[in-house]
Amino acid sequence: MPELPDLEYIVAVLGSVLPGRKIETVRVKNPVVLRVAVPGTLPELIQGHTFRACARHGHFLRFAIGDGHDLIINPMLAGRLRLGSIGEREESSLCLAAGLDDGTELRYLDDKQMGKVYLVAAGDHRAIPGYDAVGIEALSPEFTVGRLREILRERRDQVRAFLLDKTAVASIGNAYADEILWAARIHPKTGCAGLTEQDITRLHAAIRGVLSDAVREVARRAQPIEIKIRDFLQVRNRKGQPCSRCATPIRVEGVRGHDTFYCPSCQPNRPDARLGRRQLVDWSRLPDRKE
Ligand SMILES: [Zn+2]
Repeated sequence: MPELPDLEYIVAVLGSVLPGRKIETVRVKNPVVLRVAVPGTLPELIQGHTFRACARHGHFLRFAIGDGHDLIINPMLAGRLRLGSIGEREESSLCLAAGLDDGTELRYLDDKQMGKVYLVAAGDHRAIPGYDAVGIEALSPEFTVGRLREILRERRDQVRAFLLDKTAVASIGNAYADEILWAARIHPKTGCAGLTEQDITRLHAAIRGVLSDAVREVARRAQPIEIKIRDFLQVRNRKGQPCSRCATPIRVEGVRGHDTFYCPSCQPNRPDARLGRRQLVDWSRLPDRKE
């Protein structure tokens, strides 16, 4: 799925080319992804209107169209946007296409057809599941270490599950969750309640550092928006390769049903942290202490 750095790049590119462009044609090739929450069909409602703005809201992309509508995309697992040309060969995963007055075509592709494209009245996002529940933006000034500490206080789950929860922190998926935990030297199965003050400080720095570095790197590559740039990641999909910090082979493990990549040396599994402070065992009182 596209994560914060991918989405930031898509918004930057589309925000520089779409505003002011008139939608001349609309093709619906696969209506399964489409949810029109106002009376009418997608072509009737947006054809002849102009793209006004493009923004990201958590993991959603929002396009203001004409005076009255928002087109909102939740790409989920495999949804992609592509800027092509009118008349170009159609991809088998093509779901929707909007032909613009400069001969380009904005296409929504989705191999899995799990993503959703919503058309709603401008500003009315009630019909969009999860839209109003998006968590704090990790790169916003509001996301301080104090705020992270506060959020974590309420959590009883594992830190990796917490990072993936879009209602807690916006737009982090499997790839950047692994990268953040590697940068923070935290084992993915650590319980949120077992994080020390130092862990929380490192986690906060890692969330901001990993995501802002990735935003810059993806922008620097300047690839077409349908391509996800992930080759610079340190642990994700690097099973068996040496950790760039300590040369230990990267390990992969299933955590809550997700493949998780981590360095067993840099990210040791501390039994106390795994259990969480609330259930903390006093290891010093056990006869043969092993850590
Ligand atoms: Zn390592």
